[in-house]
Amino acid sequence: MDIDLTGNVALVTGAARGIGRETALLLAKAGAKVIINFIKSEEKAAELKNDISAAGGEAEIIKADIAIPGDVQTLFDFVRATYGRIDILVNNAGIIKDNLLLAMKLKEWDRVLDTNLRGAFLCSQAAAEMMMPNHSGKIVNVSSIVALHATRGQANYASSKGGLISLTRTCAVELSGKGIQVNAVLPGMIVTDMSTRVLKRAGDRILERIPAGRYGNPADVAKLIVFLCSSHADYITGQAISVDGGMSIT
Ligand code: NAD
Repeated sequence: MDIDLTGNVALVTGAARGIGRETALLLAKAGAKVIINFIKSEEKAAELKNDISAAGGEAEIIKADIAIPGDVQTLFDFVRATYGRIDILVNNAGIIKDNLLLAMKLKEWDRVLDTNLRGAFLCSQAAAEMMMPNHSGKIVNVSSIVALHATRGQANYASSKGGLISLTRTCAVELSGKGIQVNAVLPGMIVTDMSTRVLKRAGDRILERIPAGRYGNPADVAKLIVFLCSSHADYITGQAISVDGGMSIT
């Protein structure tokens, strides 16, 4: 089953590294023109753009903090000015600021919710507005299995990722009649910069809970995202799909 995204314009938020980077690369290899959003590492974003060009694809980079409405406006102004359309949005940007409930500071709560949930809302709103006249589009939200399976110290992160599933369902209901499908992916333990600390601290214990017997890698998640962005997934919407080597069923 080949995936051909030729002619599609895709925006991946937080794409300079990790799952976002791999997703941007695979979308480009499938033929999409990719907009790489980054917040800090311009060097890494530029390196990804070069890797995409070397593979025969096309990409642009744009700095924006998706938690800030003005930045999201700038981001979508750039999309409009560069390509005049958007077909795929991957709400990938995310952060963790773990703390136990009683110790959690308001700014830890706010920054995580503003990035992981409000950012996805702002980008979805802007993308859907551009997708609607074309009567087609795909939005994929990168949630997490912690949305459904509680872990200590993640009240803010789990709430943001649970909120993303609810956002996914609501957007799917509102937009499916307009030819736009909205889904969420729920990664388990994926080896990226984000998971380095927890893997060092509790890696062995976590591995015991993964029936597949290994941690995930960014490509495991990116392949699912790219499938959901393709026409093969035209009849799938409002779903929250785990990609976790079976971790969530143990
Ligand atoms: P990562 O830290 O490598 O990547 C996150 C990216 O988001 C970074 O490039 C970061 O700069 C960017 N980002 C953060 N805040 C931003 C903002 N305000 N605006 C724009 N970009 C911003 O981690 P990752 O593991 O690749 O995470 C990607 C997504 O996958 C996140 O949403 C994360 O919550 C989710 N996830 C990861 C795992 C895991 O085990 N790694 C598991 C479940 C879900």
